[in-house]
Amino acid sequence: MMRVVLLGKPGSGKGTQARRIAEAADIAVISTGELIRDSIRQGTEIGKEFRRYTDAGLLVPDQLVLDLFQQRLEKPDCAHGFLLDGFPRTLAQAEALEKMLVARAQPLTLALSIRVPDEVIIERAIGRRFCPKDKHSYHVSYAPPKVPDICDLCGSKLQQRADDKREVVLARVQEYNDKTAPLVDFYAARHILHDVDGLGTPEQVGMRVDAALQSSAA
Ligand code: AMP
Repeated sequence: MMRVVLLGKPGSGKGTQARRIAEAADIAVISTGELIRDSIRQGTEIGKEFRRYTDAGLLVPDQLVLDLFQQRLEKPDCAHGFLLDGFPRTLAQAEALEKMLVARAQPLTLALSIRVPDEVIIERAIGRRFCPKDKHSYHVSYAPPKVPDICDLCGSKLQQRADDKREVVLARVQEYNDKTAPLVDFYAARHILHDVDGLGTPEQVGMRVDAALQSSAA
């Protein structure tokens, strides 16, 4: 069974790879970023609180994310394995996750770190667009839709994430380097870390990701 953490800077292709793997393996994807954006859209008090952080490109406080994550993990679709996209992002979150999973006798099987240099990240993130309905993602230069600004799959008008503006992307990369990068050593010490080169097309990166998943299952 696969229980996988995906690590990578914003725009490293984590979300794209998460959707690919989940479709092929039929496992749940938990994206704390999506959960946070959902509650922002619902306009709840907690959503307003989240927005103060996401708009600035800062990480949301650990306890808020942990509560959100834990509720999601309880859902039945997670029983057959899961892939975590954008969680954990701090050592405190990684430690809390480890405790939760040990209590369920479901330890992680793999931590995949998708590596892309900062210069490439920034260009990728600011050109990113997504479909608000089916969440499919595009890039204005690298993966443009057939008709500009329109989703190929459902015809909805594409949007840009509020936090994909240049200044906010720079802050998010800084947060990654300060707070999330140490997780690479955390998982290396547990012998479940696998580095993947994140340069190239989604298909090329996908082949490397599949090879890592297979070697961890062997
Ligand atoms: P993402 O879609 O994963 O890039 O997340 C978008 C934003 O949501 C991040 O910039 C953070 O503000 C917040 N966020 C998502 N996941 C986490 C997390 N695990 N810990 C703290 N903040 C998070």
